[in-house]
Amino acid sequence: MKYLIVGGVAGGASTAARLRRMDEHVEIIMFEKGAYVSYANCGLPYYIGDVIKERNKLFVQTAMGFKERFNIDARTNTEVSSINRVNKFVIAKNLLTGEVYEESYDKLVLSPGAEPIRPPLPGIELPGIFTLRNVPDTDKIKAFANNRAGGKAVVIGGGFIGLEMAENLHQLGMRVTIVEMANQVMAPVDFPIAAIVQQHIRSKGVELLLNTAVSGFEQNEDGLIVNFNDGSNTYADLVILSIGVKPDTKLAINAGLEIGKSKAIWVNEYLQTSDPDIYAEGDAIEFENPIINRPLNTYLAGPANKQGRICADNIVLGNKHSYKGAINTAIVKVFDLTVGTTGMASKFLKHFDIPHLVSTTKSASHAGYYPNANQMTMQITFSPTDGKLLGAQVTGIDGVDKRIDVLATIIQKGGTIYDLTEIEHAYAPPYSSAKDPVNMAGFVAENLLHGLFKVSY
Ligand SMILES: Cc1cc2nc3c(=O)[nH]c(=O)nc-3n(C[C@H](O)[C@H](O)[C@H](O)COP(=O)(O)OP(=O)(O)OC[C@H]3O[C@@H](n4cnc5c(N)ncnc54)[C@H](O)[C@@H]3O)c2cc1C
Repeated sequence: MKYLIVGGVAGGASTAARLRRMDEHVEIIMFEKGAYVSYANCGLPYYIGDVIKERNKLFVQTAMGFKERFNIDARTNTEVSSINRVNKFVIAKNLLTGEVYEESYDKLVLSPGAEPIRPPLPGIELPGIFTLRNVPDTDKIKAFANNRAGGKAVVIGGGFIGLEMAENLHQLGMRVTIVEMANQVMAPVDFPIAAIVQQHIRSKGVELLLNTAVSGFEQNEDGLIVNFNDGSNTYADLVILSIGVKPDTKLAINAGLEIGKSKAIWVNEYLQTSDPDIYAEGDAIEFENPIINRPLNTYLAGPANKQGRICADNIVLGNKHSYKGAINTAIVKVFDLTVGTTGMASKFLKHFDIPHLVSTTKSASHAGYYPNANQMTMQITFSPTDGKLLGAQVTGIDGVDKRIDVLATIIQKGGTIYDLTEIEHAYAPPYSSAKDPVNMAGFVAENLLHGLFKVSY
């Protein structure tokens, strides 16, 4: 058997390694149009900010490592430009030599990821305006920022990557402005949580412009001018454009594969596209969200890596392993704060007309009498009929990661707020309280559900 994989980072590299572990004898070729495979895209902002000091730490595996350790033929600088589904081959181009050739397959896996959105604004191609997706983008931003310590960076978009970039450029000594078109940063969370993050960002000396849309860019002798829709503008040495991504579906569309409602590649529960010999995974696919039962995109490394393994299993064993869908569990560090989110925030439940109640609780990260306890804010959404947990968001200085993971596990298993009241957690004063913040959220939600008190939102 001969398996081809398009895309050699999160999903693609996972599939390749798992295929080899499942079968020692098959031929596996992984195409990557960039110069690097299996690198840590999630670490890129921290390398720019000098938190990760050594560039080579970003590379989890190399093309040579894939060959030596897994006998996988990882072809970097090689772009797959089309798929011939009838005769089952792809056309690949070596971007260094210009050589174009055909490569046949028995099964093909698409993991081409998502591309940063670059709207056609006036001046968008000016030097000094960057998007961040891969290692070459990182090298360019780092070189540009290193020559401009004390200069001004404008980060457009207050999502996870935008906030990470803002913090890391601030860390490099740049003055930073974040520009966000919406009325809050971090779209996946509800306003009360975002408000805490916004206050924290401003307390660090970062300027935050909400409800502000960029209309274009100009250059003068001092640097860049970023123009806003309301006629105002700001100066920048460096601009990071971080306004979102869109699934890379070019190959799939040209090959006539079915595209879903959200304009990502359609797959079935086995991650098989509309062509049974082609599987797809990662940022490029859409999948039914288990909370709202509608197809949604997920742009997260965890789901992409896990889908990579499922694809390989289904290819080798026949379709045996169903993917259950992502609940979009995510976490981000914003200066001293951590923000975690999982499931559906209230604003999305409202949008999809899903009845729900909201409860917001403030608890200490560990026993208040033990030093350095910090306040943690937890907001959960749940069904008004049976208390099924639909979503959770947590922010605080300490211990956010373990709480959001517990809440995500309950949501993923279809649990309720009653489960939160019963969770038996590990407790000693440095780590928690005898009633953990997750238990507290459950107690308050239970009171609310049983009508023991009324809340004002
Ligand atoms: C800066 C940054 C920080 C992030 N931080 C986090 C984080 O902290 N947590 C988190 O969960 N997620 C994070 N993500 C998102 C996460 O990296 C992605 O969700 C994940 O990498 C998606 O995996 P994928 O395999 O679908 O795509 P990718 O990992 O993007 O891999 C796709 C690869 O396919 C290649 N390719 C595309 N088309 C072709 C073609 N025709 N021929 C050959 N090769 C092709 C591309 O060059 C690319 O390298 C971050 C992303 C970025 C950019």
